[in-house]
Amino acid sequence: MEALAEHTIHFSGLAEGEHTFDFLLSEPFFKATGMEEYELGGEVNAHVELDRSEHLLVTNISISGYVTVPCDHCNAPMQQPVAGAQRQIFKLTGEEGIDDDELVSLDTYAHEVNLTHYFFECITLHMPIRHVHPEGQCDPEVDQAFQEIKVEHSPDPDPRWDALKALKKKN
Ligand SMILES: [Zn+2]
Repeated sequence: MEALAEHTIHFSGLAEGEHTFDFLLSEPFFKATGMEEYELGGEVNAHVELDRSEHLLVTNISISGYVTVPCDHCNAPMQQPVAGAQRQIFKLTGEEGIDDDELVSLDTYAHEVNLTHYFFECITLHMPIRHVHPEGQCDPEVDQAFQEIKVEHSPDPDPRWDALKALKKKN
């Protein structure tokens, strides 16, 4: 997803050592993901602990909050809690070819880093696959409709069929 300016950390001005940052990921963030799954928005806190040393930035990102998604059962919006953490290390030596999931190489002259992508990744990795309202909180109309469908497909013989069969036999 596109980087959002508010998630840029200008580390060149930071002293070596630990720093903490907090971001609130709300509607503008979820809109910017461009993903249908996130179009209903949400509210997630992203807490970042950043340890700066001469050649490394070690960031520990933890997220907690909720994403509004349609319930898999009744399709009404529900707040899906999401929480998780991930570590991201940025190497400031400009070496190429060392990138892996956790270690990313930044240009030697880089003085800022943007975290939008990592917040997105952290949320996406920790979203449960199934989203269902807690028991009894689904849309009652949809619940009712499901009950009716179940009755229609019930394996129990429908007395009307017997009546119909009996009628056919007679003819
Ligand atoms: Zn539901």
